[in-house]
Amino acid sequence: MTKNRVIYFFLILNFAVTGVYGWGDQGHRLISKHAMNNLPIEMSAFKVWADTISALAPDPDKRRKYDSTEYSKHFIDIDFYEEFNSYKMERNLNRLKEKYSDSVVVRMGILPWNTIDNYKTLVEVMRSKNKDKTIKLMSDLGHYIADAHNPMHTILDYDGPQTNQKGLHSRYESKMFNRYYDEIVFGLKNVNPQNIPNIDNYVWDYILASHYNHQLLFISDIEAVKVDSTYGEKYYEILWYRTKFLTLQFLNNASEVIVSIFFAAWIEAGKPALNDFY
Ligand SMILES: [Zn+2]
Repeated sequence: MTKNRVIYFFLILNFAVTGVYGWGDQGHRLISKHAMNNLPIEMSAFKVWADTISALAPDPDKRRKYDSTEYSKHFIDIDFYEEFNSYKMERNLNRLKEKYSDSVVVRMGILPWNTIDNYKTLVEVMRSKNKDKTIKLMSDLGHYIADAHNPMHTILDYDGPQTNQKGLHSRYESKMFNRYYDEIVFGLKNVNPQNIPNIDNYVWDYILASHYNHQLLFISDIEAVKVDSTYGEKYYEILWYRTKFLTLQFLNNASEVIVSIFFAAWIEAGKPALNDFY
């Protein structure tokens, strides 16, 4: 076993044991609800599904307990790949699997491809006016998009063991998030759909943007620990103080991307009316 292999097998085991959950149930429900409430005027009739889609938003994390194919859909450890580290990431899943093997690529996470597949399926179920499947797909897609906007879901060192910052993942996305929930709700802005000329490029772009924001979280953790190494109240105050602006941006961006992808899927499906689903 090479050194790299030992490291990533350790990481996988660690991920499986600690269970790392995007933005937590509360966060996923909040982002989904916010996105649904921001659907553009042409799709505004679909806002009646906001509560249902929001309530289902945490489901993909729950599925990981009984569906072994679910686990890898929530992240990509993109910096594992030498192609990425030399600024020419291979986006073709088959070519990547040919080089690294199916099992390695799955272990490193399939978030981008899963998101793109879900988009295509959403277009199909919207076209066939299948209400239950459309609601489920919109809820699932919203979840995976929100996960991608947490930089910890886009890096190999997703929980800080390589830099001796173990536990950062949950300190950031769950403990800090829950402590500052009210301020987060207050910091959400109205968003409008962006035009998506190419879904593949769009998904990869926001995943790369998320990845390149991860350093701030690691630096903020180091600075917060200098003041409070017991991870007490002061630690979280500093972590929030340093990451608040970017965290709100992640969540607003996630909402904007969800709205944009829902709108693009609906247009591609031929703009079905809400009544068509009943
Ligand atoms: Zn997740």
